[in-house]
Amino acid sequence: MMSSIKFPILFSVVMFGAYSQYEAGKTADKILLNKTPLERQSKAANPDDRVFMMRALELSQLAIKDNNGDPFGSVLVKDGKIIGEGWNRTSLLKDPSAHAEIEAIRDACKKLNNADLSGSVIYASAQPCPMCLSLIYLTGIKRVYYCIPHYKIEKFNKDLSVDFIYEELTKPQTERTIPELQILPDYADKYLESYVTQ
Ligand SMILES: [Zn+2]
Repeated sequence: MMSSIKFPILFSVVMFGAYSQYEAGKTADKILLNKTPLERQSKAANPDDRVFMMRALELSQLAIKDNNGDPFGSVLVKDGKIIGEGWNRTSLLKDPSAHAEIEAIRDACKKLNNADLSGSVIYASAQPCPMCLSLIYLTGIKRVYYCIPHYKIEKFNKDLSVDFIYEELTKPQTERTIPELQILPDYADKYLESYVTQ
């Protein structure tokens, strides 16, 4: 049982702790007010977000371990739980699509036995490339957290530049570098029927 002497001491310690937390919160709020919206959003990430990002960064090191591929890692989370993990395995699998985010998405879909990842959040050690970002949209992932921005990666490896592809995607179809041309237009409606009737 708690003695009557210990109680005021304990109470003071608890109150001091709560006050310190309150003060720290106020200071953090003040710091955030001076940040850009993007920085603010990043700083406002909760402790769990930082833990998941640390895991993605940890996984990025697996990518370089057995010459799997470039050092990128990713974690997919739903309702506070990790549902998929991945790291770049392009070199190992000889698969250009085996980026960390795609691998994490494949892992989650396999485990959940479902291709719909609506409501989940992805943590990527580096800002996703256009391929990964497209799949993020297609699978219903609601938010992306990244640690290393594109421009920092490009400084080390120009081959990993994604600005060109992002720019291409903003152009009208007829102005892109890779021609995308329709052929056999007469068959379009016939084969479209299978979409309608399935
Ligand atoms: Zn990618």
